[in-house]
Amino acid sequence: MPKRSRKNKCVQLEVREEAKQKFIEFLVKKDLRITNQRRVIIDTVFDTNEHFTAEQLLEWARLKDSSVSRATVYRTLPLLTESNLVHEMDFGKPYKFYDPNYSDSPNHNHLICEDCEKIVEFDSEKIEEIEQDIGQKLGFTVKSQNLQLSASCDSLKRSGACDNKPCS
Ligand SMILES: [Zn+2]
Ligand SMILES: [Zn+2]
Repeated sequence: MPKRSRKNKCVQLEVREEAKQKFIEFLVKKDLRITNQRRVIIDTVFDTNEHFTAEQLLEWARLKDSSVSRATVYRTLPLLTESNLVHEMDFGKPYKFYDPNYSDSPNHNHLICEDCEKIVEFDSEKIEEIEQDIGQKLGFTVKSQNLQLSASCDSLKRSGACDNKPCS
């Protein structure tokens, strides 16, 4: 599996720009108009490395353009996941999370803090080895991996809360 580098911000930017172009092509192929609102939502999605909920996306998009409607956000999200450029994740919460780093690296694992809902991505060669191992033993070829861990910050353990602060 190719190794990803999160250190090179320039490459990241290029990758995100490429994903944005691919999504615009996807909309054009579907004969969907790229309205101003939709353009703002697309810019917001592909400008971030953070995982987000629909409501977060709405909030961020409205910082760029206050006229962005909730309905347009909720209509655009299924298109983003359908295009395979953004991945929908279910952590057992009443709402879904969306992963903008999916097209760049479909094989990565997530840890979510149960208190502040911060999502941290991680890679592990050991986990990959174990998964390949299990696949082989059961007679399957593992094609993708996606591990989700529910966790709590160390500060949550100590004080019962993590103050909604980044806990990576
Ligand atoms: Zn991710
Ligand atoms: Zn936390």
